[in-house]
Amino acid sequence: LYVDQPLGAGQTVPLDRDKAHYLFGVMRLSEGAGVLLFNGRDGEWLARVAEAGKRGGLLHCEAQTRQLRMPPDLWLLFAPIKKARTDFIVEKAAEMGAARIVPVQTDFTNAERIRQDRLQAHAVEAAEQCGGTFVPEVADLVRLDRLLAGWPEGRQLMFCDEGFADGGAATAPSAPLPCRASGQLPQPWAILIGPEGGFSPSERARLHSLPFAHPVSLGPRILRADTAAVAALTLWQMRLGD
Ligand code: SAM
Repeated sequence: LYVDQPLGAGQTVPLDRDKAHYLFGVMRLSEGAGVLLFNGRDGEWLARVAEAGKRGGLLHCEAQTRQLRMPPDLWLLFAPIKKARTDFIVEKAAEMGAARIVPVQTDFTNAERIRQDRLQAHAVEAAEQCGGTFVPEVADLVRLDRLLAGWPEGRQLMFCDEGFADGGAATAPSAPLPCRASGQLPQPWAILIGPEGGFSPSERARLHSLPFAHPVSLGPRILRADTAAVAALTLWQMRLGD
């Protein structure tokens, strides 16, 4: 269960109505029952139910059961599409170990704004359901050109471009992807997925000119943006095993 407060031995964790309903109404836990807690920072902790009520409750933190496991420093940048598909991308990115999720507004992105709090809640739920100890931050919507102008030094960008291989086979980026097996510490990278309408000609030209951006084909078929996000994240898991 995710809680937004520090965890440590002896810490008490108050529960709001929703969490109390879930633990005591849905899961039928009663006083003394054990609950595994995480907050995305302090690893996983075993807590016991000290008070169980309809509108709230109290847990008592006992011992750490797992250390925080940070994913590789990989960001997923994507252009928000329809609500359900945007939710899907955030959920899958959190499940597959993206360290940060950044919705970007491109020339052909229809969304003018996003509900960052709602998307962050999806990331929390995904981390809860896959037994993670880390929750990726979902950033606010940012314009792609602004993001590229302030691009952090040293971070490489895997730019997923369906036009790159001209209908050809999947390609690897021109810079070598980091590999856990080689013993290197993975360098910071980001994956960029475009919107339903793809990137505009000027965006593509700019991306192709940037030294840190490496175009990649995910195969000869044009994938939907949500499929492309999962395919690109899968490539990373194959490489890093994390
Ligand atoms: N340009 C297209 C169109 O006619 O709408 C499709 C864009 S595609 C639905 C959305 C995004 O998924 C693209 O901008 C790209 O980032 C990624 N993508 C889809 N298929 C891909 C492929 N075969 N290789 C690389 N990226 C792909």
